[in-house]
Amino acid sequence: MKKNWPGRGLIWGFLVLLAIICLASMRGSDLGSPGALLNYLGRVTGILGLAMLLLAAALIARVPGFDRHFGGLTKLWKTHHFLGAGALLLLMAHPVLLALGAAETSLSAALSTLFPPLSNIGTWLGWGALLFMMVFLAPSFSFFGQPEYQRWKWIHRLAGPAVILSLAHILYFGRTLTAGLDMALWVVLALLAVGAVVWRLILSGRMGSLRFEVAEVASVANNLVELSLKPAGRRKLNYQAGQFVYLTPYDKSLDAGYGEEHPYTISSSPTEDRLRIAIKDLGDASRAIRTIQPGSRVHIEGPYGDFFPSDPDKGDQPAPPELWVAGGIGITPFLGRARHLAATGQSLDICLVYCVQDEARARFLKELESLAEQIPGMKLITHYFYREGPLDGEFLARHCPELDQRSVYICGPLPLTDLAKNLVINAGVRRKDIHTEEFELL
Ligand SMILES: Cc1cc2nc3c(=O)[nH]c(=O)nc-3n(C[C@H](O)[C@H](O)[C@H](O)COP(=O)(O)OP(=O)(O)OC[C@H]3O[C@@H](n4cnc5c(N)ncnc54)[C@H](O)[C@@H]3O)c2cc1C
Repeated sequence: MKKNWPGRGLIWGFLVLLAIICLASMRGSDLGSPGALLNYLGRVTGILGLAMLLLAAALIARVPGFDRHFGGLTKLWKTHHFLGAGALLLLMAHPVLLALGAAETSLSAALSTLFPPLSNIGTWLGWGALLFMMVFLAPSFSFFGQPEYQRWKWIHRLAGPAVILSLAHILYFGRTLTAGLDMALWVVLALLAVGAVVWRLILSGRMGSLRFEVAEVASVANNLVELSLKPAGRRKLNYQAGQFVYLTPYDKSLDAGYGEEHPYTISSSPTEDRLRIAIKDLGDASRAIRTIQPGSRVHIEGPYGDFFPSDPDKGDQPAPPELWVAGGIGITPFLGRARHLAATGQSLDICLVYCVQDEARARFLKELESLAEQIPGMKLITHYFYREGPLDGEFLARHCPELDQRSVYICGPLPLTDLAKNLVINAGVRRKDIHTEEFELL
Protein backbone atom coordinates (compact mmCIF):
# COMPACT_ATOMS: atom_id res chain seq x y z
CA MET A 1 0.00 0.00 0.00
CA LYS A 2 1.48 3.32 -1.06
CA LYS A 3 2.09 5.84 1.69
CA ASN A 4 2.63 9.53 1.20
CA TRP A 5 5.12 11.28 3.49
CA PRO A 6 5.49 14.92 2.44
CA GLY A 7 7.54 16.03 5.48
CA ARG A 8 11.00 15.22 4.22
CA GLY A 9 10.24 16.49 0.70
CA LEU A 10 9.08 19.85 2.09
CA ILE A 11 12.24 20.29 4.14
CA TRP A 12 14.57 19.46 1.27
CA GLY A 13 12.48 21.57 -1.11
CA PHE A 14 12.80 24.54 1.27
CA LEU A 15 16.57 24.10 1.56
CA VAL A 16 17.03 23.85 -2.21
CA LEU A 17 14.91 26.99 -2.64
CA LEU A 18 17.03 28.79 -0.04
CA ALA A 19 20.22 27.72 -1.81
CA ILE A 20 18.82 29.04 -5.10
CA ILE A 21 17.86 32.36 -3.47
CA CYS A 22 21.37 32.65 -2.00
CA LEU A 23 22.94 31.95 -5.38
CA ALA A 24 20.56 34.37 -7.13
CA SER A 25 21.55 37.09 -4.67
CA MET A 26 25.14 36.68 -5.92
CA ARG A 27 24.15 38.62 -9.01
CA GLY A 28 25.26 42.17 -8.54
CA SER A 29 28.04 41.18 -6.14
CA ASP A 30 31.57 41.56 -7.33
CA LEU A 31 32.75 37.95 -7.55
CA GLY A 32 35.55 38.58 -9.99
CA SER A 33 38.27 37.07 -7.78
CA PRO A 34 38.66 33.65 -6.09
CA GLY A 35 38.78 35.43 -2.73
CA ALA A 36 35.39 37.09 -3.28
CA LEU A 37 33.88 33.80 -4.44
CA LEU A 38 35.20 31.96 -1.36
CA ASN A 39 33.85 34.73 0.84
CA TYR A 40 30.48 34.37 -0.81
CA LEU A 41 30.45 30.59 -0.42
CA GLY A 42 31.40 31.08 3.22
CA ARG A 43 28.33 33.23 3.74
CA VAL A 44 26.05 30.79 1.90
CA THR A 45 27.29 27.84 3.99
CA GLY A 46 26.58 29.92 7.09
CA ILE A 47 23.00 30.64 5.99
CA LEU A 48 22.24 27.07 4.94
CA GLY A 49 23.94 25.61 8.02
CA LEU A 50 21.94 27.80 10.41
CA ALA A 51 18.69 27.06 8.52
CA MET A 52 19.41 23.32 8.90
CA LEU A 53 20.20 23.73 12.60
CA LEU A 54 16.92 25.57 13.22
CA LEU A 55 14.92 23.04 11.20
CA ALA A 56 16.55 20.20 13.15
CA ALA A 57 15.51 21.96 16.38
CA ALA A 58 11.95 22.47 15.06
CA LEU A 59 11.63 18.70 14.52
CA ILE A 60 12.16 17.85 18.19
CA ALA A 61 8.63 18.97 19.11
CA ARG A 62 7.37 15.34 18.94
CA VAL A 63 3.73 16.40 18.69
CA PRO A 64 1.76 13.15 18.35
CA GLY A 65 0.60 12.62 14.77
CA PHE A 66 3.10 15.04 13.21
CA ASP A 67 5.65 12.23 12.75
CA ARG A 68 3.29 10.46 10.34
CA HIS A 69 4.18 13.10 7.73
CA PHE A 70 7.70 11.67 7.87
CA GLY A 71 6.77 7.99 7.91
CA GLY A 72 6.94 7.69 11.71
CA LEU A 73 9.04 9.07 14.54
CA THR A 74 12.06 6.89 13.79
CA LYS A 75 12.22 8.31 10.27
CA LEU A 76 11.60 11.83 11.59
CA TRP A 77 14.59 11.41 13.95
CA LYS A 78 16.69 10.31 10.98
CA THR A 79 15.81 13.56 9.18
CA HIS A 80 16.64 15.47 12.39
CA HIS A 81 19.96 13.62 12.64
CA PHE A 82 20.79 14.31 9.00
CA LEU A 83 19.94 18.01 9.35
CA GLY A 84 22.10 18.24 12.50
CA ALA A 85 25.05 16.56 10.76
CA GLY A 86 24.63 18.75 7.67
CA ALA A 87 24.43 21.89 9.83
CA LEU A 88 27.62 20.97 11.68
CA LEU A 89 29.57 20.35 8.46
CA LEU A 90 28.34 23.56 6.80
CA LEU A 91 28.93 25.67 9.90
CA MET A 92 32.47 24.28 10.25
CA ALA A 93 33.12 25.09 6.57
CA HIS A 94 31.69 28.61 7.06
CA PRO A 95 34.64 30.25 8.94
CA VAL A 96 37.20 28.28 6.93
CA LEU A 97 35.81 29.57 3.61
CA LEU A 98 35.60 33.13 4.93
CA ALA A 99 39.22 32.96 6.08
CA LEU A 100 40.37 31.48 2.76
CA GLY A 101 38.55 34.31 1.02
CA ALA A 102 40.38 36.88 3.15
CA ALA A 103 43.72 35.07 2.59
CA GLU A 104 43.71 36.50 -0.92
CA THR A 105 44.47 39.87 0.67
CA SER A 106 46.97 38.65 3.28
CA LEU A 107 47.58 36.00 5.90
CA SER A 108 46.93 38.47 8.67
CA ALA A 109 43.55 39.36 7.09
CA ALA A 110 42.68 35.64 7.14
CA LEU A 111 43.75 35.32 10.79
CA SER A 112 41.85 38.40 11.85
CA THR A 113 38.74 37.10 10.02
CA LEU A 114 38.95 34.01 12.19
CA PHE A 115 40.16 35.60 15.40
CA PRO A 116 39.30 39.30 15.46
CA PRO A 117 39.68 41.53 18.55
CA LEU A 118 37.33 40.66 21.42
CA SER A 119 35.31 43.78 20.66
CA ASN A 120 34.07 42.02 17.49
CA ILE A 121 31.35 40.29 19.47
CA GLY A 122 29.48 38.94 16.43
CA THR A 123 32.33 36.66 15.39
CA TRP A 124 32.91 35.38 18.92
CA LEU A 125 29.21 34.59 19.28
CA GLY A 126 29.60 32.46 16.14
CA TRP A 127 32.60 30.64 17.63
CA GLY A 128 30.65 30.04 20.83
CA ALA A 129 27.77 28.53 18.83
CA LEU A 130 30.14 26.27 16.91
CA LEU A 131 31.83 25.12 20.09
CA PHE A 132 28.50 24.20 21.70
CA MET A 133 27.50 22.37 18.53
CA MET A 134 30.68 20.30 18.52
CA VAL A 135 30.17 19.35 22.17
CA PHE A 136 26.51 18.42 21.87
CA LEU A 137 26.84 16.63 18.53
CA ALA A 138 30.03 14.66 19.29
CA PRO A 139 28.17 11.93 21.25
CA SER A 140 25.50 11.65 18.53
CA PHE A 141 28.18 10.64 16.07
CA SER A 142 29.85 8.35 18.61
CA PHE A 143 33.16 10.25 18.31
CA PHE A 144 34.04 9.03 21.80
CA GLY A 145 32.16 5.69 21.75
CA GLN A 146 28.45 5.04 22.34
CA PRO A 147 27.33 7.25 25.25
CA GLU A 148 24.84 6.17 27.92
CA TYR A 149 21.40 7.24 26.65
CA GLN A 150 20.38 9.58 29.50
CA ARG A 151 23.80 11.28 29.50
CA TRP A 152 23.56 11.75 25.74
CA LYS A 153 20.16 13.38 26.26
CA TRP A 154 21.55 15.86 28.78
CA ILE A 155 24.50 16.80 26.58
CA HIS A 156 22.10 17.27 23.67
CA ARG A 157 20.42 20.09 25.61
CA LEU A 158 23.48 22.22 24.80
CA ALA A 159 21.76 22.60 21.43
CA GLY A 160 19.75 25.39 23.14
CA PRO A 161 22.73 27.74 23.71
CA ALA A 162 24.10 26.80 20.26
CA VAL A 163 20.87 27.95 18.61
CA ILE A 164 20.67 31.17 20.66
CA LEU A 165 24.31 32.12 19.96
CA SER A 166 23.90 31.36 16.24
CA LEU A 167 20.85 33.60 16.03
CA ALA A 168 22.72 36.38 17.83
CA HIS A 169 25.62 35.89 15.39
CA ILE A 170 23.35 36.26 12.37
CA LEU A 171 21.94 39.50 13.82
CA TYR A 172 25.42 40.96 13.45
CA PHE A 173 26.19 39.56 10.01
CA GLY A 174 22.92 38.94 8.17
CA ARG A 175 23.56 41.02 5.07
CA THR A 176 23.80 38.47 2.28
CA LEU A 177 20.07 38.26 1.57
CA THR A 178 17.88 41.34 1.15
CA ALA A 179 16.99 42.86 4.53
CA GLY A 180 13.27 41.91 4.45
CA LEU A 181 13.93 38.34 3.38
CA ASP A 182 16.72 37.98 5.90
CA MET A 183 14.47 39.09 8.75
CA ALA A 184 11.51 36.95 7.64
CA LEU A 185 13.67 33.84 7.24
CA TRP A 186 15.27 33.97 10.67
CA VAL A 187 12.15 35.09 12.53
CA VAL A 188 10.08 32.22 11.09
CA LEU A 189 12.75 29.58 11.60
CA ALA A 190 13.60 30.86 15.10
CA LEU A 191 9.91 30.81 16.09
CA LEU A 192 9.57 27.23 14.85
CA ALA A 193 12.70 26.13 16.71
CA VAL A 194 11.93 27.96 19.96
CA GLY A 195 8.28 26.85 19.83
CA ALA A 196 9.39 23.23 19.46
CA VAL A 197 11.82 23.49 22.39
CA VAL A 198 9.22 25.16 24.63
CA TRP A 199 6.65 22.49 23.76
CA ARG A 200 9.10 19.62 24.31
CA LEU A 201 10.70 20.82 27.54
CA ILE A 202 7.87 22.70 29.24
CA LEU A 203 4.40 22.13 27.79
CA SER A 204 4.35 18.53 26.54
CA GLY A 205 4.59 17.06 30.06
CA ARG A 206 1.41 18.90 31.09
CA MET A 207 -0.58 19.14 27.88
CA GLY A 208 0.71 16.28 25.74
CA SER A 209 0.84 13.35 28.14
CA LEU A 210 -1.96 11.23 29.53
CA ARG A 211 -2.22 9.78 33.01
CA PHE A 212 -2.66 6.04 33.41
CA GLU A 213 -2.60 3.65 36.35
CA VAL A 214 -0.91 0.24 36.33
CA ALA A 215 -3.78 -2.24 36.58
CA GLU A 216 -1.85 -5.48 36.17
CA VAL A 217 1.70 -6.71 35.62
CA ALA A 218 1.65 -10.06 33.80
CA SER A 219 4.91 -11.99 33.80
CA VAL A 220 5.33 -13.46 30.31
CA ALA A 221 8.85 -14.81 30.96
CA ASN A 222 11.61 -14.11 33.48
CA ASN A 223 12.82 -11.15 31.37
CA LEU A 224 9.51 -9.96 29.93
CA VAL A 225 6.38 -8.46 31.46
CA GLU A 226 3.20 -7.15 29.93
CA LEU A 227 1.71 -4.12 31.68
CA SER A 228 -2.01 -3.49 31.59
CA LEU A 229 -2.79 0.20 32.07
CA LYS A 230 -6.11 1.86 32.73
CA PRO A 231 -6.80 5.54 32.07
CA ALA A 232 -6.59 7.72 35.20
CA GLY A 233 -7.62 10.97 33.55
CA ARG A 234 -10.45 12.10 31.32
CA ARG A 235 -8.56 12.05 28.03
CA LYS A 236 -8.41 8.79 26.11
CA LEU A 237 -5.51 7.63 23.97
CA ASN A 238 -6.55 7.14 20.35
CA TYR A 239 -4.10 4.96 18.51
CA GLN A 240 -3.72 2.49 15.71
CA ALA A 241 -2.52 -1.05 16.14
CA GLY A 242 1.27 -1.27 16.14
CA GLN A 243 1.96 2.37 17.14
CA PHE A 244 4.16 3.19 20.09
CA VAL A 245 4.17 5.57 23.05
CA TYR A 246 6.63 7.05 25.52
CA LEU A 247 5.98 5.63 28.95
CA THR A 248 7.16 7.38 32.13
CA PRO A 249 6.70 5.44 35.38
CA TYR A 250 6.18 7.23 38.70
CA ASP A 251 6.62 4.40 41.17
CA LYS A 252 9.12 5.40 43.88
CA SER A 253 9.90 1.74 44.65
CA LEU A 254 11.55 1.26 41.23
CA ASP A 255 15.32 0.65 41.33
CA ALA A 256 15.80 2.62 38.11
CA GLY A 257 13.90 4.64 35.57
CA TYR A 258 11.64 6.68 37.92
CA GLY A 259 10.33 9.65 35.90
CA GLU A 260 12.33 8.55 32.81
CA GLU A 261 10.50 8.28 29.51
CA HIS A 262 11.11 5.27 27.25
CA PRO A 263 9.49 4.30 23.96
CA TYR A 264 7.41 1.09 23.91
CA THR A 265 5.02 -0.37 21.36
CA ILE A 266 1.36 -0.76 22.30
CA SER A 267 0.58 -4.47 22.22
CA SER A 268 -3.18 -4.16 22.75
CA SER A 269 -5.91 -3.61 20.18
CA PRO A 270 -7.35 -0.07 20.03
CA THR A 271 -10.72 -1.67 20.80
CA GLU A 272 -9.58 -2.67 24.31
CA ASP A 273 -10.36 -0.52 27.36
CA ARG A 274 -6.88 -1.04 28.71
CA LEU A 275 -3.56 -0.27 27.14
CA ARG A 276 -1.12 -3.18 27.08
CA ILE A 277 2.63 -2.81 26.74
CA ALA A 278 5.09 -5.73 26.67
CA ILE A 279 8.53 -4.82 28.03
CA LYS A 280 11.71 -6.86 27.78
CA ASP A 281 14.63 -6.09 30.07
CA LEU A 282 17.17 -4.52 27.75
CA GLY A 283 18.72 -2.18 30.31
CA ASP A 284 18.31 -0.63 33.78
CA ALA A 285 14.92 1.01 33.38
CA SER A 286 13.29 -1.80 31.41
CA ARG A 287 14.63 -4.36 33.94
CA ALA A 288 13.30 -2.38 36.88
CA ILE A 289 9.84 -2.12 35.33
CA ARG A 290 9.31 -5.81 36.20
CA THR A 291 8.77 -4.71 39.80
CA ILE A 292 6.39 -1.82 39.10
CA GLN A 293 3.50 -1.88 41.54
CA PRO A 294 -0.14 -2.19 40.45
CA GLY A 295 -1.89 1.05 41.37
CA SER A 296 1.15 3.20 40.59
CA ARG A 297 0.96 6.09 38.13
CA VAL A 298 2.48 6.20 34.65
CA HIS A 299 2.40 8.95 32.04
CA ILE A 300 1.89 8.10 28.40
CA GLU A 301 2.82 10.35 25.51
CA GLY A 302 1.84 9.51 21.96
CA PRO A 303 0.87 7.71 19.88
CA TYR A 304 3.74 7.75 17.42
CA GLY A 305 4.77 5.68 14.44
CA ASP A 306 3.42 4.89 11.02
CA PHE A 307 4.34 1.25 10.60
CA PHE A 308 1.13 -0.34 9.34
CA PRO A 309 -1.37 0.99 6.79
CA SER A 310 -4.08 3.04 8.50
CA ASP A 311 -7.01 0.74 7.88
CA PRO A 312 -6.44 -2.35 5.77
CA ASP A 313 -10.10 -3.34 5.54
CA LYS A 314 -11.46 -0.08 4.11
CA GLY A 315 -11.54 1.01 0.48
CA ASP A 316 -12.59 -0.63 -2.75
CA GLN A 317 -9.38 -2.56 -3.28
CA PRO A 318 -8.84 -5.72 -1.24
CA ALA A 319 -5.86 -5.32 1.11
CA PRO A 320 -2.70 -6.77 -0.47
CA PRO A 321 -1.24 -9.90 1.14
CA GLU A 322 1.37 -9.22 3.81
CA LEU A 323 4.56 -10.76 5.11
CA TRP A 324 5.45 -9.94 8.70
CA VAL A 325 8.99 -10.68 9.90
CA ALA A 326 9.45 -10.33 13.65
CA GLY A 327 12.67 -10.82 15.61
CA GLY A 328 12.54 -11.30 19.41
CA ILE A 329 10.77 -8.44 21.20
CA GLY A 330 10.10 -7.00 17.71
CA ILE A 331 6.98 -9.18 17.85
CA THR A 332 5.08 -6.48 19.79
CA PRO A 333 3.69 -4.41 16.87
CA PHE A 334 2.56 -7.62 15.17
CA LEU A 335 0.99 -8.89 18.38
CA GLY A 336 -0.95 -5.63 18.68
CA ARG A 337 -2.13 -5.78 15.08
CA ALA A 338 -3.06 -9.48 15.23
CA ARG A 339 -5.02 -8.85 18.43
CA HIS A 340 -6.78 -6.00 16.64
CA LEU A 341 -7.60 -8.01 13.51
CA ALA A 342 -9.01 -10.81 15.69
CA ALA A 343 -10.98 -8.39 17.90
CA THR A 344 -12.58 -6.71 14.87
CA GLY A 345 -13.17 -9.96 12.94
CA GLN A 346 -11.06 -8.94 9.94
CA SER A 347 -9.50 -11.39 7.54
CA LEU A 348 -6.13 -10.79 5.91
CA ASP A 349 -3.63 -12.89 3.98
CA ILE A 350 -0.64 -12.72 6.36
CA CYS A 351 2.49 -14.84 6.69
CA LEU A 352 4.01 -14.08 10.09
CA VAL A 353 7.60 -15.33 10.31
CA TYR A 354 8.55 -15.18 13.98
CA CYS A 355 12.35 -15.42 14.35
CA VAL A 356 13.75 -16.40 17.74
CA GLN A 357 16.82 -18.24 18.93
CA ASP A 358 15.02 -21.27 20.32
CA GLU A 359 11.62 -22.50 21.51
CA ALA A 360 12.14 -21.13 25.04
CA ARG A 361 12.40 -17.58 23.64
CA ALA A 362 9.28 -17.71 21.49
CA ARG A 363 7.22 -15.41 23.72
CA PHE A 364 3.47 -15.13 23.20
CA LEU A 365 3.64 -18.19 20.90
CA LYS A 366 0.51 -19.87 22.28
CA GLU A 367 -1.50 -16.68 21.91
CA LEU A 368 -0.15 -16.09 18.39
CA GLU A 369 -1.17 -19.64 17.41
CA SER A 370 -4.64 -18.97 18.71
CA LEU A 371 -4.81 -15.60 16.88
CA ALA A 372 -3.73 -17.31 13.64
CA GLU A 373 -6.69 -19.65 14.04
CA GLN A 374 -9.08 -16.76 14.62
CA ILE A 375 -7.89 -14.55 11.72
CA PRO A 376 -8.88 -16.03 8.35
CA GLY A 377 -5.80 -15.94 6.09
CA MET A 378 -3.17 -15.65 8.82
CA LYS A 379 -0.34 -18.20 8.88
CA LEU A 380 2.25 -18.36 11.67
CA ILE A 381 5.73 -19.73 10.95
CA THR A 382 8.45 -19.92 13.57
CA HIS A 383 12.12 -19.76 12.66
CA TYR A 384 14.59 -21.01 15.28
CA PHE A 385 18.07 -19.59 14.71
CA TYR A 386 19.96 -22.18 16.80
CA ARG A 387 18.40 -25.03 14.85
CA GLU A 388 17.99 -23.53 11.38
CA GLY A 389 20.75 -20.93 11.11
CA PRO A 390 20.12 -17.49 9.66
CA LEU A 391 16.83 -16.84 7.88
CA ASP A 392 17.20 -17.43 4.13
CA GLY A 393 15.31 -16.92 0.88
CA GLU A 394 14.54 -20.60 0.48
CA PHE A 395 12.86 -20.69 3.94
CA LEU A 396 10.70 -17.66 3.09
CA ALA A 397 9.74 -18.97 -0.35
CA ARG A 398 8.85 -22.40 1.10
CA HIS A 399 6.51 -20.95 3.72
CA CYS A 400 5.12 -17.83 2.07
CA PRO A 401 3.63 -18.22 -1.38
CA GLU A 402 3.70 -15.30 -3.82
CA LEU A 403 6.32 -13.48 -1.84
CA ASP A 404 6.80 -10.79 -4.49
CA GLN A 405 3.12 -9.79 -4.27
CA ARG A 406 3.28 -9.05 -0.55
CA SER A 407 3.69 -5.86 1.42
CA VAL A 408 6.46 -6.60 3.89
CA TYR A 409 6.68 -5.41 7.51
CA ILE A 410 9.86 -6.08 9.48
CA CYS A 411 10.60 -5.36 13.15
CA GLY A 412 13.55 -6.80 15.02
CA PRO A 413 17.26 -6.33 15.70
CA LEU A 414 19.09 -4.39 12.98
CA PRO A 415 21.03 -7.40 11.54
CA LEU A 416 17.77 -9.33 11.09
CA THR A 417 16.04 -6.29 9.59
CA ASP A 418 18.84 -5.83 7.04
CA LEU A 419 18.93 -9.54 6.24
CA ALA A 420 15.15 -9.83 5.79
CA LYS A 421 15.09 -6.68 3.65
CA ASN A 422 17.75 -8.11 1.31
CA LEU A 423 15.99 -11.46 1.11
CA VAL A 424 12.65 -9.98 0.09
CA ILE A 425 14.27 -7.57 -2.38
CA ASN A 426 16.01 -10.56 -3.99
CA ALA A 427 12.63 -12.32 -4.07
CA GLY A 428 11.23 -9.46 -6.14
CA VAL A 429 9.46 -7.31 -3.52
CA ARG A 430 9.59 -3.62 -4.46
CA ARG A 431 11.41 -1.35 -2.00
CA LYS A 432 8.34 0.84 -1.59
CA ASP A 433 6.43 -2.21 -0.28
CA ILE A 434 8.96 -2.84 2.50
CA HIS A 435 8.28 -1.19 5.87
CA THR A 436 10.55 -1.41 8.87
CA GLU A 437 10.22 -0.38 12.50
CA GLU A 438 13.39 0.00 14.53
CA PHE A 439 13.54 -0.18 18.31
CA GLU A 440 16.44 2.24 18.21
CA LEU A 441 15.68 5.92 17.83
CA LEU A 442 19.20 7.25 17.41
C1 LIG B 1 9.86 2.72 18.44
C2 LIG B 1 10.32 1.84 19.58
C3 LIG B 1 9.48 0.86 20.06
C4 LIG B 1 9.92 0.02 21.09
N1 LIG B 1 9.07 -0.95 21.56
C5 LIG B 1 9.47 -1.78 22.54
C6 LIG B 1 8.60 -2.79 23.04
O1 LIG B 1 7.46 -2.94 22.62
N2 LIG B 1 9.07 -3.58 24.03
C7 LIG B 1 10.35 -3.45 24.53
O2 LIG B 1 10.71 -4.22 25.41
N3 LIG B 1 11.20 -2.51 24.06
C8 LIG B 1 10.79 -1.66 23.09
N4 LIG B 1 11.64 -0.69 22.64
C9 LIG B 1 13.00 -0.61 23.21
C10 LIG B 1 12.97 0.17 24.52
O3 LIG B 1 12.66 1.52 24.28
C11 LIG B 1 14.35 0.12 25.16
O4 LIG B 1 14.65 -1.22 25.44
C12 LIG B 1 14.39 0.88 26.46
O5 LIG B 1 14.21 2.26 26.24
C13 LIG B 1 15.72 0.60 27.13
O6 LIG B 1 15.89 1.46 28.22
P1 LIG B 1 16.79 1.01 29.47
O7 LIG B 1 17.02 2.19 30.34
O8 LIG B 1 16.20 -0.21 30.09
O9 LIG B 1 18.12 0.54 28.83
P2 LIG B 1 19.40 1.39 28.47
O10 LIG B 1 20.58 0.52 28.69
O11 LIG B 1 19.36 2.74 29.09
O12 LIG B 1 19.16 1.58 26.93
C14 LIG B 1 19.36 0.56 25.98
C15 LIG B 1 19.22 1.21 24.61
O13 LIG B 1 17.85 1.60 24.44
C16 LIG B 1 17.79 2.88 23.80
N5 LIG B 1 17.02 3.81 24.65
C17 LIG B 1 17.06 3.91 26.00
N6 LIG B 1 16.25 4.86 26.43
C18 LIG B 1 15.67 5.38 25.33
C19 LIG B 1 14.74 6.42 25.12
N7 LIG B 1 14.20 7.12 26.11
N8 LIG B 1 14.40 6.71 23.83
C20 LIG B 1 14.93 6.02 22.82
N9 LIG B 1 15.80 5.02 22.94
C21 LIG B 1 16.17 4.71 24.18
C22 LIG B 1 19.18 3.39 23.63
O14 LIG B 1 19.58 3.21 22.28
C23 LIG B 1 20.02 2.52 24.50
O15 LIG B 1 21.27 2.28 23.96
C24 LIG B 1 11.22 0.17 21.63
C25 LIG B 1 12.05 1.18 21.16
C26 LIG B 1 11.61 2.01 20.14
C27 LIG B 1 12.52 3.08 19.64
